[in-house]
Amino acid sequence: MAENKRDYYEVLGVERGASEEEIKKAYRRLAKKYHPDMNPGDKEAEQKFKEINEAYAVLSDPEKRARYDQYGHEGVDPSMGGGFGGFGDFGGFGGFDFSDILNSFFGGTQTSSARRNAPQRGEDIHFRLSISFEEAAFGCKKDITYARIEKCGECGATGAAKGTSPETCPTCRGTGTVKYTQRTALGLFSTTRTCENCHGTGKIIRNPCHNCNGKGYIKVNKKLSVTIPAGIDDGERVGLPGQGNDGRNGGPTGDLILIITVRPHPIFEREGYDIYCEVPITFVEAALGAEIDVPTLEGRIKYTIPEGTQTGTTFTLRGKGIQHVHSTKRGDLKFSVHVEVPKGLTEQQKELLRKFAESCSPANNSKKTNFFNRFFGKQ
Ligand SMILES: [Zn+2]
Ligand SMILES: [Zn+2]
Repeated sequence: MAENKRDYYEVLGVERGASEEEIKKAYRRLAKKYHPDMNPGDKEAEQKFKEINEAYAVLSDPEKRARYDQYGHEGVDPSMGGGFGGFGDFGGFGGFDFSDILNSFFGGTQTSSARRNAPQRGEDIHFRLSISFEEAAFGCKKDITYARIEKCGECGATGAAKGTSPETCPTCRGTGTVKYTQRTALGLFSTTRTCENCHGTGKIIRNPCHNCNGKGYIKVNKKLSVTIPAGIDDGERVGLPGQGNDGRNGGPTGDLILIITVRPHPIFEREGYDIYCEVPITFVEAALGAEIDVPTLEGRIKYTIPEGTQTGTTFTLRGKGIQHVHSTKRGDLKFSVHVEVPKGLTEQQKELLRKFAESCSPANNSKKTNFFNRFFGKQ
């Protein structure tokens, strides 16, 4: 029957001189397209899939490809009983399972669908939760609503209407998979495929449950009060075990994972467990020293800065930062003072300042005095 076979190059849609890489690429694309899992029950796709695999088995092997180029299908057809390309080459593989190769290609889709009736853990649900800077610092309780997949309460996740129960699929005898053995250019291959009759569940539902339409699971909006621990930072996660999607076929429930977004604070910035802010002071306060107001997470406090405080000087308030998660330790609050130069002075104020300037000695502004001295020597 070799004459009825399509040309292998044509099957893969490549030129006769195609490189190994081109052949591999074409094969992967076509195998994905016509894979039985992607086309359940499609006989034509199944036929194409076989054809593609046969063509690839030959064209990906330099020796077989050379034979094929010279002699055509006869050169490699196992039914012709030749010493190559037939059973002998793969003798050691006997019950070689084709799906293993495909798994490595398709990231295990075959396995997951073939085991649709095995216990599966429910998916984790990721939920983004935005909280304020203070809520992150002190911890908080939040009421959230999120969508999760739950077992249907009406039918107890069987999918069968009340008073009925699912029947074991006669086609696969409840396994959810059917094994096919096929003869190809490479020998006998067995392929495990999802049962088409029950779509891999192993069960047939005659009277579907009205609540879940026979799916056994429903999507519900769940309300939950969650506790966010003090000290949590932007981007961190809080896991709530068992609050994700319900598992299937008796598998465990997934987790709910809160991804925390901390809204910025108008005054404070956070780094680890320490917080920073900048406090404006007048130049008189800086020069004379003063008791100034400093913001903290718990409100204002009084703090005395010494006379002659320079702009940019940083002061530390120990233990006024953020509480460590799972500990009673607290970080520090660091604030730097920023001297504000007064603007909009009256004529009288200017006069006072001029008088003040006249009274100043070089020692009053040592930095300025020393600035040029350091480089050019005393004038
Ligand atoms: Zn139901
Ligand atoms: Zn079945």
